[in-house]
Amino acid sequence: DENKRQIASRKSIERYKMGGVLGEGAFSVVYSAVDLVSKEKVAIKIIKKYQLDQKQRDNVLKEVNLMKQLNHPNIVRLIEFIENENYFYLVQEVVSGGEIFNQIVKYTYFSEDLSRHVIIQVAEALLYMHEQVGIVHRDLKPENIFFKPIKVVKEDQKTRLQKLRKSDTNAKLDEGKFVMNYGGGGIGLIKIGDFGLSKQIVLNENNSLKTPCGTIGYTAPEIVRDMKYSKEVDMWALGCVLYILLCGFPPFFNDSIEELTKTVARGEFKFLSPWWDEISSGAKNCVSKLLTVNPIQRYTVEQFLKDPWILDSEKGRHSHR
Ligand code: ADP
Ligand code: MG
Repeated sequence: DENKRQIASRKSIERYKMGGVLGEGAFSVVYSAVDLVSKEKVAIKIIKKYQLDQKQRDNVLKEVNLMKQLNHPNIVRLIEFIENENYFYLVQEVVSGGEIFNQIVKYTYFSEDLSRHVIIQVAEALLYMHEQVGIVHRDLKPENIFFKPIKVVKEDQKTRLQKLRKSDTNAKLDEGKFVMNYGGGGIGLIKIGDFGLSKQIVLNENNSLKTPCGTIGYTAPEIVRDMKYSKEVDMWALGCVLYILLCGFPPFFNDSIEELTKTVARGEFKFLSPWWDEISSGAKNCVSKLLTVNPIQRYTVEQFLKDPWILDSEKGRHSHR
């Protein structure tokens, strides 16, 4: 016990027993690990300091500082930050299902119900970040959205799956679709992570944006513009994520970065046939309100959460109970 207490008090990476790799980024590797004191599973993002210049190191500290301020069920919690000579360690709560990205790859696309189940939770995280803390994520994408799995297999589902396999040549896809339509598709709690590109914005008591220093009349346009449009970039990204969830591919893609930049700048996207044919007009309308070029007309997170397609489900969900 004394030994345990000693371990607990030492702010050292030795407190954790390292496991396998959960994911990799450009400058980081994320490992699963076990806290030897609490026996809890964690995820540890390890960053090699020698690979980073001073500015990049400062950014890691910024990421840590921002994460420390966040306390919300739909946001990955930072448990502790450890730094030694060679490494930064971001000890985080583990989100065992991994990236939502891999689920899209696995199942091609999600049902409208499951897409809604996921996107509402992402929006709840944004509502908290934007309106309560004043942090914009700026790197929202399926690779940075994680999930906790829930078990959904029931007897009647098993027998239906067996029937599907016998009757349908396209069984694999249908099976996926069926599973995704059933009981939330095994996706439970959603948590967003990777605050590496996030930024603090300045909020006043009424949670509206304010200038960091003095009168607006003397503030440089880039600062005003940056603060004014910062939340909206997350809402655009939310639109891209919702689009991908519903059809399985992104709204904007082009092998040429130049062409891609142009189509994004014009906000040129289509609800491509046949993939979007079966998707409701309510869902399409909701995506369009997010993928609106003019940031002033684009949905805010509050508006998004009141969208008819989003609220529709609320009714549905209650009636299922
Ligand atoms: P980077 O900034 O390098 O992209 P991320 O924070 O996005 O780093 O982590 C890289 C990958 O590691 C993620 O895409 C995910 O697959 C995995 N990962 C990160 N944090 C967690 C976590 N808390 N739980 C489970 N997997 C995680
Ligand atoms: Mg990432």
